[in-house]
Amino acid sequence: MSAHKSDAVIIGGGIIGTACGYYLSRQGLKVAIVEQGYLCSGSTGRCIGGIRQQFTSSGSIKLMMESVRHFQNMEQELGTDVHWHNGGYLFLAHSPEKKQAFLSNIAVQQAAGLKDVRWVDADECREIAPGMDATGLLGGSYCPSDGQAYPFAVVQGYAGKIKQAGGSIHTFSKVSHILQQGGKVTGVKTESGREFSAGVVINAAGPWSKDVGQMAGIEIPVEAERHEALITEGVEYLNIPMLVDYRADGGYFQQYKHNGQFIGCYSPVPNVPGHSADSTFEFLHEMPKRMLKLVPGLKVLKVIRQWAGSYENTPDGNPILDRTGLDGFYTVAGMCGHGFMLGPAMGRVAADLILSGGRDMPYPEFALKRDFSQAEAMK
Ligand SMILES: Cc1cc2nc3c(=O)[nH]c(=O)nc-3n(C[C@H](O)[C@H](O)[C@H](O)COP(=O)(O)OP(=O)(O)OC[C@H]3O[C@@H](n4cnc5c(N)ncnc54)[C@H](O)[C@@H]3O)c2cc1C
Repeated sequence: MSAHKSDAVIIGGGIIGTACGYYLSRQGLKVAIVEQGYLCSGSTGRCIGGIRQQFTSSGSIKLMMESVRHFQNMEQELGTDVHWHNGGYLFLAHSPEKKQAFLSNIAVQQAAGLKDVRWVDADECREIAPGMDATGLLGGSYCPSDGQAYPFAVVQGYAGKIKQAGGSIHTFSKVSHILQQGGKVTGVKTESGREFSAGVVINAAGPWSKDVGQMAGIEIPVEAERHEALITEGVEYLNIPMLVDYRADGGYFQQYKHNGQFIGCYSPVPNVPGHSADSTFEFLHEMPKRMLKLVPGLKVLKVIRQWAGSYENTPDGNPILDRTGLDGFYTVAGMCGHGFMLGPAMGRVAADLILSGGRDMPYPEFALKRDFSQAEAMK
């Protein structure tokens, strides 16, 4: 079989791969997405759809402000209802230390241009999140322009546009080799022996980006870590923002506006390294308790499904967006549990970087080879 030819091969059909593909297509490149499973079969189809701009690295804040602008226009741009809703995010502070940390973060965020983030006291938290138990609450960091969207709809929207522009999507095709000649990437080969040739190859393999990097002898410092989630039946929309409770027995959850389902997760302690997507009874038992502690009225809801997926962590909690030592081979990965929200802006920036031949590096803080000691605090 002769090799499939395109301008850019993208390994991975999650939010990052399809967003990169969409923005490259818009610039006239013929794109081929090569995905080992189905679109969204990795982390993107397992995430809870939260979109926030409240970070502490100025790069992530700026990218997220851009992403929110893309989400706002997405229905019109992609011709698909992605269920964008700016329901806000409320980070809760139950200790003076947390309050102080949030106040400092708010100053950084406002300085980076995020003007509507603000500190709210406990009474205002109660108004913003009707039905919330505010026992012991000192207040919170609130950003009303944060929001939510539906990951499957966004990815399908991007995929449709890539195909419209003459690109192609190859599912159930696992890349096993990165092809190269004279220090330059020339394409990829799948497990079944099919070749895809292109002068640009993008590693958008999320939690598997380290394995894909190794195919070219390139070290990508991204480690998979299991996170579980659950979803309830749908009820009338209660107008509660995404609640984030960083306490040891806290979690984060929101209600989808489009169908009234509550969806949420928490970060396990200790963390669970590796690619496991196994669900646990412990999570099913624990997560509802944590939700009810914050919003007791949810006790009437039935949980209808639980699942697990991977975060894709870098040592400092920030993404990797860079060229590599192999000419034409790029890495857009390591989103550290924030890839759905970062996706649209990351795709736009990655496309510009690639079209500049890897020379215009807009976010040096996301370089592959960097000092990883400056950690993102709002992980
Ligand atoms: C429980 C949970 C909740 C989350 N909640 C949120 C949230 O609210 N908001 C948010 O922004 N983020 C959230 N995230 C994180 C988010 O899901 C990820 O950061 C994001 O999906 C990463 O996107 P990606 O495209 O890089 O990776 P993926 O979606 O994993 O896509 C990578 C793709 O590459 C494919 N692949 C891997 N190896 C190969 C190969 N060799 N050949 C071909 N294909 C390959 C995989 O099959 C996969 O489909 C959550 C994650 C989890 C697990």
